[in-house]
Formats: sequence, structure tokens, C-alpha cells
Amino acid sequence: MRCKVCRGHAVVDIRRHNAAFCPDHFVDHVTSQVAKALKEFKMATVEDRLLIAVSGGKDSLAVWDVLMNLGYDTTAFYLDLGIGGYSARSKEAAVAFAGSRGGKLITRSLREEHGFTVPELSTLTRRVPCSGCGLNKRYEFNRAALEEGFDVLVTGHNLDDEVATLFGNVLGWNTQMLGRQRPVLQERIVGAGDSRAFVKKIKPLVRIAERETAAYALIRGIDYIVEECPMVEGNTQHRYKEALTLLEEASPGTKHRMYFGFLKNASDRFAEDRGSAELIPCTDCGAPTVASGAHGVEKLMCSFCKTKALAHARRAERTNDSVHGAEQR
Ligand code: SF4
Ligand SMILES: [Zn+2]
Ligand SMILES: [Zn+2]
Repeated sequence: MRCKVCRGHAVVDIRRHNAAFCPDHFVDHVTSQVAKALKEFKMATVEDRLLIAVSGGKDSLAVWDVLMNLGYDTTAFYLDLGIGGYSARSKEAAVAFAGSRGGKLITRSLREEHGFTVPELSTLTRRVPCSGCGLNKRYEFNRAALEEGFDVLVTGHNLDDEVATLFGNVLGWNTQMLGRQRPVLQERIVGAGDSRAFVKKIKPLVRIAERETAAYALIRGIDYIVEECPMVEGNTQHRYKEALTLLEEASPGTKHRMYFGFLKNASDRFAEDRGSAELIPCTDCGAPTVASGAHGVEKLMCSFCKTKALAHARRAERTNDSVHGAEQR
């Protein structure tokens, strides 16, 4: 296998591009694909302050590395989800990478900010861990970006992530999510609201497959956390990824065709479904939330605050039950 550029020994083979690369030219290839996505979808400029949501995994550390090398003004943000040893080790990976590159890193902990971890939230609300986890991450990433004055929030979603999400949205014909599935999301409040209520979100790795971010991390000496989150079992997105990888192996380019074909030929057809509800401030935290159909104060809370209130109420009930139980004994 020879490198497409220099004819030297190739270490990475990309079947959908019908190309192979030596380590140096593979790094150039990934960097140019990220630069292409940034330009094509008008993601960010070098004047913007970028906040990168890092998990300690290969994708988020790789996107941070590429953006630093492209000269962007970057700071990373790590949210400790409190998932036992997994969170401790993923935080170590993020901190070590920041130290090795001289990168700026902000860390926050869900428990310190809100009084619960992802596993505790799951038990208290009786919902699958990934659903509460996703809600927490969306809320905290946006909050951190706005509080710290960043222009753009960057996530490490790669082509495999995006095509799996698309596949799930098509299976359920979730037209609202299909309308919103773009590599750049700039939500605006309709009416007299604050246009900075949601930070602009971008996914610069949409042109890079998951196995390529792993290869990139390896070549660049990025010491990422390899183990998977112990809560991933039963995650539907994970199953879609496995199914799509089988299709990709049989017909290279399937994932790319599905995702970029959707953006080119179908995404705008769901524009009306994106939703343009009037938003008002959450009565608890001030974050924007849907005003229409609101009845009573409880309905005016954003979904994060409603979930948080439910978790704290259930915890108080449990504490009361155990106190009463102890008194009766
Ligand atoms: S697998 Fe689920 S619980 Fe674990 S980090 Fe991902 S979304 Fe959160
Ligand atoms: Zn080469
Ligand atoms: Zn709120």
C-alpha cells in the first residue's frame, strides 16, 4: 500500500476516497478535510473564540488538535459527569492533553454545579442514563460558552456519529430533528428575545470517519481514553453505528453518500419542521424555553430545570422515607 501523495509506505487506507496515506500525509489529509468543512459550512473564523467540548476521547481531542494547528483561538471545556472511574480517567486524559499542548482547559463537575451525577440522575428520574446525560451536556456546554463569552461551541461529532443520528431520525421520521440536523446550528429566539441565548454550535469532523479520528490520534500521539462509557449498553445510536458499519464495509462510501446526500438533497425539505416557537426565559435559570402551550409556572421551566427539580424532589422523598423508616424501627 503506497501513499497517494509521496508513494511512501502508507499506514491508513480510506476506501471511500480510494486512497491511502503515509502518517504525515494522512495528518495533512485530515487537516484539509476539517478546513474544507469549516469553509464549506461557514463554521468559524480565526477571529472567533472557540470553546471545544472535550470528553477525553479521540474525537474531541483530535478536533481540538486540528483546530489548534489551523491557528484557531481555542479553549476546551470538560464536564465531569460523575460516572465512576470512567469519568476520572477521561478527565485525566483531557487534562494531560491540555498540558502537553499548552492548551487552555475549563473543567466543571455536574455534581458540584447541580448536586447529582449522571448515574444518580438516571436512578432518581427512572430514565435511561444517556437521555439525562445528553440533556445535561447540551445545557452545560451552552451555559459555559455563554458565561465565558465564547462565540462558537465545537463538538467532536464525526461522520459516523452524524450518519447514525440521521439514520435514527429517518427510522422514526422525526422531521423536526431532520430539519435541525446540520453541521452548523445557530438557533435564534423568535420575537424580542436575546439572540445570544444559544451559542452557535459546529461539528468540524463531519467529513472524517471514526476510524480515521482514531488513526489521527494515534499518529499525533494523542493519549485518549480508549474505554467506552459503562452506560453505553443499550444506547440505540451505538446499534445504528454497528449496522451502518456493516453496510460501509460492503459498499465503501455509503455513510458519506447518505449524510452529504441528505444535506444536499433533502435537508431543506424539512426546514418548516425545524420549529420556530416563541421562546421565553426559564423561570428558574433564565435559559430560553418554549412559551407556547405553557400552563402554570412548572411549564415555564426549561427541560433541564424540570429534570433537576424532579431529581431533587425524588431524593427528598427518599430521605424522608428512610428517616420515617428509622423512626418507626
Ligand atoms: S454513553 Fe450515555 S451516559 Fe455515557 S457518556 Fe455517552 S451519553 Fe453519557
Ligand atoms: Zn506520503
Ligand atoms: Zn432552566
